[in-house]
Amino acid sequence: MTVLTNPETVCPFGARRYNAWNEHVKARYGGRVQKVSVIAGFSCPNRDGLVGTGGCTFCNNDGFTPGYLDRRQTIAEQIDAGLDFLHRRYPGTQRYIAYFQSYSNTYGEFERLRACYEEALSHPGISGLAIGTRPDCLPNEVLDYLAQLAGTYIIELEIGVESCNDAALARVNRGHDFAASVDAIRRSAARALEVTVHLLLGLPGESNESMLDGARQLSALPIHALKIHQLQLVRGTALARQWQRDPASVPLLDEPACISLLADFIERLSPTILLQRVGSEVPPSLKLAPHWNLRLSELAPRISAELARRGSWQGCRYPPTGPDSVVAGGCGSLIQTLTSY
Ligand code: SF4
Repeated sequence: MTVLTNPETVCPFGARRYNAWNEHVKARYGGRVQKVSVIAGFSCPNRDGLVGTGGCTFCNNDGFTPGYLDRRQTIAEQIDAGLDFLHRRYPGTQRYIAYFQSYSNTYGEFERLRACYEEALSHPGISGLAIGTRPDCLPNEVLDYLAQLAGTYIIELEIGVESCNDAALARVNRGHDFAASVDAIRRSAARALEVTVHLLLGLPGESNESMLDGARQLSALPIHALKIHQLQLVRGTALARQWQRDPASVPLLDEPACISLLADFIERLSPTILLQRVGSEVPPSLKLAPHWNLRLSELAPRISAELARRGSWQGCRYPPTGPDSVVAGGCGSLIQTLTSY
C-alpha cells in the first residue's frame, strides 16, 4: 500500500469519520428535519408494463412502508397521522417534510403529481418534500416544477441508482442502465436540485471491485447525498425465491465482510457527498437473509469504529491515485470544501 503523508493528519468528520447528513441538517436548519411518509398511490413502470412487469427482483415495498401509514387516507390525513406518531417519537424535531417513498413518485400525469405534492405542501406542519423515484421517470417538465418549488420549500429528490454496474442492474431486472442515472442526476443538478442517490451494495453480478468503482463513478457526479443499503432478501421477492432455489446464485455478505466493504467504499467516496444512510434495516418479519442482524443504530457506529481502526475516513482514498494508495491526513483541502458547502 502506498501511503501519501500530509502533516494535517486530522479526520475532518470527528468521531463518525464520514460526512454525516444529520450534522449537516442540524447546521443548515437549526435542528432535526424529519420525514413523514405518505403513499400517493403511484405505480412503477417496471411493474405496470411500460418498462417491465416483474419489477426489480429485490423489491417489496412493504419492506420500507411505516406501520402508521393507511393508504386509504388522503395525503393530508396521512400527514396528520404521521405527525401525531412522530411528535411523540421525536419530540425535539424542528421541521417535517412529506416523504413520497413507495414506488416511483414522479411517474404519472404532471397535473396529478402537482396535485399530490401541493396537497402535502399545503399542510401547515410540512416544510418540504422528499420524493423517491427511478432515473427514467424524471422528465424535464417535472424537474423544472420541482426546481421552482425548491425556491420556497425544502425539496430533496431521491433517485434509485442502485448500482453503477449495468450487468448487475440487468441481473435484478432493474429496467434501466447506469447511463440513465447519470443523465437524470445531471439534469436535476443543472436545475440546482439537491439529489440523494440510493445505492444497493451486494447485488448479484457485483464484485468488490465493481462496487468500489461505483464510489469513483458516483463521486464524479453532482450528488448532494447518498443512501447506502446493503442487500437483504425480503420475503416474497423474486430474489428471495432465487436464493432459496440456488443460494450460490445470490451470494450474501456476512457481517465482517459488509462492514469492511462499507469502510472501503466510504474511503473512496468524495468527502463532499453527505451520507444520509450507511445501511438499512428490514423488519424482521419480512427479512429472509442474511441471518446476521444489526440495527442501523448499531451498524453506523461499527463502520465508524472500523474507519477509526484503520486511521481512515470518507474520501481519504479519493481521488484514487492508485489502486492501493491512501492519503494519511490529507484533508486540509477537504475541510475548505466542506465549510463552503
Ligand atoms: S424498486 Fe422501485 S423501480 Fe424497482 S420495482 Fe420496486 S418500485 Fe419499481
